[in-house]
This record gives sequence, structure tokens and C-alpha cells, in this order.
Amino acid sequence: MLYDLTRPLSSRTPVYPGDTPVSITPTSQMCDGDLCNVSSIAMTVHAGTHIDAPRHYADGAPGVDALDLSVLTGTAQVVTLDIALAIDVTDLVHLTNLSGKGLLVHTRGSEALNDVFDPGYTFFTPAAAEWLGGQGVRLIGIDTPSVDPADSTDLAAHHAFLRHDTIIIENLCLRAVPDGHYRLLALPLKIVDCDAAPARVLIEPILSKS
Ligand SMILES: [Zn+2]
Repeated sequence: MLYDLTRPLSSRTPVYPGDTPVSITPTSQMCDGDLCNVSSIAMTVHAGTHIDAPRHYADGAPGVDALDLSVLTGTAQVVTLDIALAIDVTDLVHLTNLSGKGLLVHTRGSEALNDVFDPGYTFFTPAAAEWLGGQGVRLIGIDTPSVDPADSTDLAAHHAFLRHDTIIIENLCLRAVPDGHYRLLALPLKIVDCDAAPARVLIEPILSKS
């Protein structure tokens, strides 16, 4: 069974205050006598479910087209953490065997509506991000708009993950997804040197051999 963790992209998709909203505009329409339907799209690359590249928080760093596909198509563990705001190290220390995998964190964010931006979302403390990186987590996914709080002025969790080469996925939806181990398919658009890209993110349970 495949779980689709991707938020829908439409003109109703919420974006960070100040970011370019999603607009999808028909440029050719059969109902107007055109040969086919064609649309153009304008949006921040951080709208909806997306993958951040190191270029997002470091000039000259690799773009989203250079991310390691073996990590984006590797294994990932889904864990539920029912924490209102900051996820700290003490909330994570019960997790073991994280090295070499992805970790997808299921918070109350998955219950958020597809057209609402709530600045009171769950995020990681810099220490938690540093701890996860130190455990060898190759990819971190969260079901909120950012791994840092909405009022962050230094993106400290982003930078901690960057130091450990941990790929970041934001705005997942893990509603109704059981905790467990999965095969991951997280494929951002191949936009050259870009700081992020929207991605379709799917997971499939890894059946344990009996
Ligand atoms: Zn982002």
C-alpha cells in the first residue's frame, strides 16, 4: 500500500507570509477554440510539500537538483510526536537505529487544513536538529511549514541539519499514516541550482519477514 504524503498545490495552498502565492493560469484553452489546454504556474518553490536544498540557507551551496537520490529513495521511519511547539532532544532520545535513514515526524501539523497557514506550528530546537544529525539521520521530514519556528531570525535548525548533510522535507501530511518503517519516494522537480522544489512524496510499508 502506498501512502501519499503530498499536500495539494492550488491557488488555495497557504504560503509563508510575504512569499509568492500559487497561481495557475490558463494560457491556451479549448473552450476558447485553442488546440489544447495549457497552463502556466507561478509560486514560491516552498509552497506545499517541498524539499529544501542547502542553497536555501547558504549562498553557493548545492541546489535541489544535486540532492542525493539514494537518500530520497531510501528508507524512512515514521514517528508520532504529540508536541505543541518545540521538539527538543528529550523528545527524541527514545528513538534508536536512526543512522542512514530518513525520519518523518508526525505532529499535530498533519491535521492542519490545506488552505490555512498557522504560525503556531511544531518545529525543532537547534539542539534537537543537531542531535538528529549526530545520530546519522540522512533526511528529516515534518508535517509543518518549517523545521524552524515562524519567528526564527537565524534558521538555526536548518543550519544544524545542513552541517550534518541532512535533507529537509516540509509540509508533509501524515494523517492516518501508522508509525513504522517505510520505503521512501521523495522526488523534487529537477530545478537547476534552486533553493527548493515541490515534491511528490510517497511511502510504502516495509513488510517484516516472518
Ligand atoms: Zn522550505
